[in-house]
Amino acid sequence: MTCEKCKGFMIEERQPDLSPGQVVHRCVNCGLVVDELIVQNRLQQLRERRSLLRAA
Ligand SMILES: [Zn+2]
Repeated sequence: MTCEKCKGFMIEERQPDLSPGQVVHRCVNCGLVVDELIVQNRLQQLRERRSLLRAA
């Protein structure tokens, strides 16, 4: 996985204090953290936008 901000290398990281069992991705270059939930929300928004376009 590459960072969408700087195209740097991202590592998988667990944050048991914040979200047990959940893995986030952190960029070793700029420190950007990408949460799986954030990614899923973005995908969901894209799907909704597409279905809206289809309905119009
Ligand atoms: Zn980065």
